[in-house]
Amino acid sequence: MTLPACSVAAPANRSASSAPADVFGGIAHPSSDVDADGLLDSPPARRWLDLIARARADDVYTFQQPLDGRSGAHVSIDGRSMLMMSAYDYLGLIGDERIEHAAVEAVRAYGTGTGGVRLLTGTTALHGELERALADFKGTEAALVFTSGYMAILGAITALFGRHDRAIVDARIHRSTLDACALAGVPYRRFRHNDPADLEAELRRPTCARRTLVAVEGVYSMDGDTCALPQIAEVSRRHHALLMVDEAHAFGVLGASGRGVDEHWGVPSSVADIWVGSLSKAIPSNGGFIAGSRSVMAYLQHGAAPFMFSSALCPAAAGAALEALAVIRAEPGRLARLRATSDHLRQGVREAGFDAGASTTPIIPILLRNSDRALRLARHLFGLGVLASAIIPPAVPPGRARLRLCATAAHSHGDIDEALRALRLARDQQMASSADA
Ligand code: PMP
Repeated sequence: MTLPACSVAAPANRSASSAPADVFGGIAHPSSDVDADGLLDSPPARRWLDLIARARADDVYTFQQPLDGRSGAHVSIDGRSMLMMSAYDYLGLIGDERIEHAAVEAVRAYGTGTGGVRLLTGTTALHGELERALADFKGTEAALVFTSGYMAILGAITALFGRHDRAIVDARIHRSTLDACALAGVPYRRFRHNDPADLEAELRRPTCARRTLVAVEGVYSMDGDTCALPQIAEVSRRHHALLMVDEAHAFGVLGASGRGVDEHWGVPSSVADIWVGSLSKAIPSNGGFIAGSRSVMAYLQHGAAPFMFSSALCPAAAGAALEALAVIRAEPGRLARLRATSDHLRQGVREAGFDAGASTTPIIPILLRNSDRALRLARHLFGLGVLASAIIPPAVPPGRARLRLCATAAHSHGDIDEALRALRLARDQQMASSADA
């Protein structure tokens, strides 16, 4: 990986410094005398340490930049103002005073920790309130909260499925579902991304599995396209498969009132047997949830390992999430703003000649295919005062590296224009410097 040095002109309203003080952010720098044996004696460890070393040598490592304060449309990194273009704060609720106040009040009322797992001593009245509010918002009988979306997915799949079942998952499903299947011992196959006909072909394969789980996402986290839920639900139902929808990026984002992909398509929430989601994206907190029938939740309280063997969601996170749901209900204008900034950014990216794939949501990829290009473009933008995450394998398949931009309701039209200007400038400067090389 030989990368041309970045020649970066900072916009007038940004710091002139193009070089981050420490592009390694908070990461522990690998030492030069890495022992090839022992803990690091594995292909992924060697691959990553090699990539980190080369990215550092070429000054293109922009991961783990420590923010000086809150995230939002504008952030400060090492005292420098930056435009944030890759955070999941879709509704612009990070920093909302009401939500911060609710988190503080939750700490005052319930303390900083719960002192236990949910099943035993870690359940507070606040957890119950949040679960009722989530079920009500999602239109299900009941919901359960976990310390993260990842934990919720692990809890759901490991409790409900086992090695005598099978899973058929979208080819672009998030890592959490694959890890959950591996932990549960559920054999899985992938169907072509968002393709109900290919799902049907998979469902038709002869199997001795007892039950079949179909797993999809409401909004695909790397590509920003929307699940073809009505067709996928219909095929699943016809083949007696059980359907799980991961709403991490759809909850609070899709549908007229943000209720998710079911609302987006105008189908009832009962089309899925189980919903899972995160409280760390449109909801500016931490945590995750499972939503579905009362009986399933009653079983999961005694069958989902993270509910029994991992401490409860802390009160501050529960309080913040509960208040955020109330704000989302009360302020539908945020969704309208999110759609306007998303459309503006997506259209601008395409007009500038970039490939934004099949995005129809606030997640807008810039497909660059190769990891070097993604790392270099992210670094170049960093120099221009724009933080845009490079996504490289294994988060995406080889040959599908990209920048992943996220529009939020907190971005102004001017912010989006500035990001687009920086993108065009970075691309043009990189093309010019590779022509010179
Ligand atoms: N599912 C998807 C699609 C995700 O993108 C993520 C996190 N980025 C998760 C699940 C896990 O959610 P959490 O961050 O709350 O663990």
